[in-house]
Amino acid sequence: MAATTPVCEAFDGIAALAQAVRAREVSAVEVTRSCLERIAQLDDQLGCFLRVDEQGALRQAEAVDAKIREGADEELLLAGVPVGIKDMLCTKDLQTTAASKILAGFVPPYDATAVAKLRAAGAVVLGKLNMDEFAMGSSNENSALRPCKNPWDVTRVPGGSSGGSAAAVAASLCPLSLGTDTGGSIRQPAALCGVTGMKPTYGRVSRYGVIAFASSLDQVGPLGRSAVDLAQALQVIGGHDAHDATSLPLEQPDYLAACQTPIVDKNRRLRIGLPKEFFAQGLDPRIERCVRAAIASLQQEGAELVDVSLPLTKHSIAIYYLIATAEASSNLSRYDGVRYGLRVTPCDGEIGPGQSALVEMYKRTRAAGFGPEVQRRIMLGTYVLRSGYYDAYYRRASQVRTLVARDFAAAFTKCDVLMTPTSPVLPFRLGERLCDPLSMYLADIYTISCNLAGLPGLSMPCGLVTEAGSDRPLPVGVQVLGPPLHDAKVLQVAAAYQRITDWHKQRPQILTRPGAEAASP
Ligand code: GLN
Repeated sequence: MAATTPVCEAFDGIAALAQAVRAREVSAVEVTRSCLERIAQLDDQLGCFLRVDEQGALRQAEAVDAKIREGADEELLLAGVPVGIKDMLCTKDLQTTAASKILAGFVPPYDATAVAKLRAAGAVVLGKLNMDEFAMGSSNENSALRPCKNPWDVTRVPGGSSGGSAAAVAASLCPLSLGTDTGGSIRQPAALCGVTGMKPTYGRVSRYGVIAFASSLDQVGPLGRSAVDLAQALQVIGGHDAHDATSLPLEQPDYLAACQTPIVDKNRRLRIGLPKEFFAQGLDPRIERCVRAAIASLQQEGAELVDVSLPLTKHSIAIYYLIATAEASSNLSRYDGVRYGLRVTPCDGEIGPGQSALVEMYKRTRAAGFGPEVQRRIMLGTYVLRSGYYDAYYRRASQVRTLVARDFAAAFTKCDVLMTPTSPVLPFRLGERLCDPLSMYLADIYTISCNLAGLPGLSMPCGLVTEAGSDRPLPVGVQVLGPPLHDAKVLQVAAAYQRITDWHKQRPQILTRPGAEAASP
């Protein structure tokens, strides 16, 4: 049985879809229904959504249609565009759990700013997307609620932590989603699922209402079909927010205009830097071939290639796992069974002499509520912040972090953007790396330093690789990194690449049942 092709697929991008909804060629309700139908047909198998809010989505769509009928639609840049939201962002009256048991039943009383801005622009929130618990992971396998599969091959991982956000777009369950990226969690799943995803400059998008993992690294960003779609989304969700002290008090550039700007004009050619440390040992040669071909196609358009070096890359994983775990252990201390979600209370007879019922409740709640990876990080982070260790670990890591940012600044004196692979490996099989957390950490080598330096970074599809003995092609992603605040430049380069190639238009053949005929697109 073939699955429904959602209405969105008939449009060339979300701006065209919104335009058609505003012109009343198609209603927001019809668009929303078709996505809900496809989710009902495919998501049992894929596991992209943790919660689908059918009633809420249809109500929002009806409200958008009503506004358009009344002629109050100038502000509705995303009229009727269905979106999925990573379960890390608070959604008013819609359960938000960060894919953790400890937040079971938590219903936020307000929307995260990014979500509120999407709704105000007419987007329709379909539901909450799967992820690694508290965004800790690179495969979505740490979700405490249900696994998520890669739509290109359901025996493989979609990447993480925003696995559901990437897989939902890849499977055409929604044309746009929000994710968060602390060390690669938007870009790596985008690469593994063959979609385009962007982590904006730190501070571009408000973190208000976003469940905190590592506050100095976390950033919200969009995942979608193309750089142009991301530009449209960023225009809506970005900008200063007084509720977030780290949000940048700056006007946003015109991201859409940047996407139309050629990379070469008569005065200046785009300079693309290739950091040699990103094309080193450990990189799958099939990925390297696709990434180099992508860079070569921009060279043919007139871009100039420059060799650069980022010598501190080798330290980035170590620094990240000191900073991220330290901040996580502090941020996650609020989940104590008192204020949110789960509470495991000991029975009367279980409290021994000298034991405190309150402390026992904390312990039991946290032991039952957090999964093994989250517990591992809390323990590491607590160790890192222990008195007497702070100088040796957190302070030291923060100092080296500054040097990493300087490494990038030096490279950007020679080039406008960097292009690199996003992930050194293809989507791996579910379960393959679970017993070896370190090998999972190492797979973030190309994405982590961007967060340490606060840069904008984007991943987009640049090829398909079919492994020996398989008939399922797997996507490869190329990463574009820019200097801080040069988000528009990153989008410009990605849009230029997507004008001359069509990797971003490839869709997986999804089997609705093993052995059943393929559902397209
Ligand atoms: N994979 C990295 C980690 O496990 C990054 C996660 C993220 O960006 N949220 O921490």
